[in-house]
Amino acid sequence: MSPDQIAGLAWDKQGGLLPAVVQDAGNGRVLMLGYMDRAALEATLASGRVTFFSRSKQRLWMKGETSGDVLELVRLETDCDADTLLVQARPHGPTCHLGRGSCFPDAPGSFLAELDALVQARERERPAGSYTTSLFEGGVRRVAQKVGEEGVETALAGVAQDDEPLLGEAADLVFHLTVLLRARGLGLADVERVLRQRHAAKR
Ligand code: AMP
Ligand code: ZN
Ligand code: ZN
Ligand code: ZN
Repeated sequence: MSPDQIAGLAWDKQGGLLPAVVQDAGNGRVLMLGYMDRAALEATLASGRVTFFSRSKQRLWMKGETSGDVLELVRLETDCDADTLLVQARPHGPTCHLGRGSCFPDAPGSFLAELDALVQARERERPAGSYTTSLFEGGVRRVAQKVGEEGVETALAGVAQDDEPLLGEAADLVFHLTVLLRARGLGLADVERVLRQRHAAKR
């Protein structure tokens, strides 16, 4: 963001503060909302660590300054009328001070992003006794086979009357698909990117 762009933001609209929505750059999950004054925005851009103006402390507050759970800046953009910031960041720990990944854990889409992150952690850490670990240990062909089975089960449930079996099979399918993507080094966010590109191409 250039000095001209910073100067062009609607600082005067709300007493020198702009709301800043923070989103996980890896999976799109909404993490928290804070406020930035001009100094906080400049500190964020200069340090690469998301920094707010704390209304309770009445000073600059780098998220994670005491907990260590900093937000590493990836991208910053403004909304249509330049009075709100969207901050994409890589969280180094739970963002909510209550220990949860997000301050909005029940927001739509939040759980799929959390699941994707969990599957990624299982792939890396391979904890014993985890079903996800056993899938990764079985290799990509085995996971692909599971996706095929769940796909057929979902299709069969899709032509039956009840909703519950369809939802259960669809959940199995989404989970195993998430594991298959991760076994190939990919995630749900990559699928979303392809869907978005197709959508843009049709407009
Ligand atoms: P931290 O910036 O993570 O070192 O946390 C320092 C203090 O900031 C905490 O004790 C909370 O009072 C507050 N805080 C941290 N994270 C959040 C958050 N996501 N939303 C609101 N307040 C927070
Ligand atoms: Zn706006
Ligand atoms: Zn919180
Ligand atoms: Zn199934």
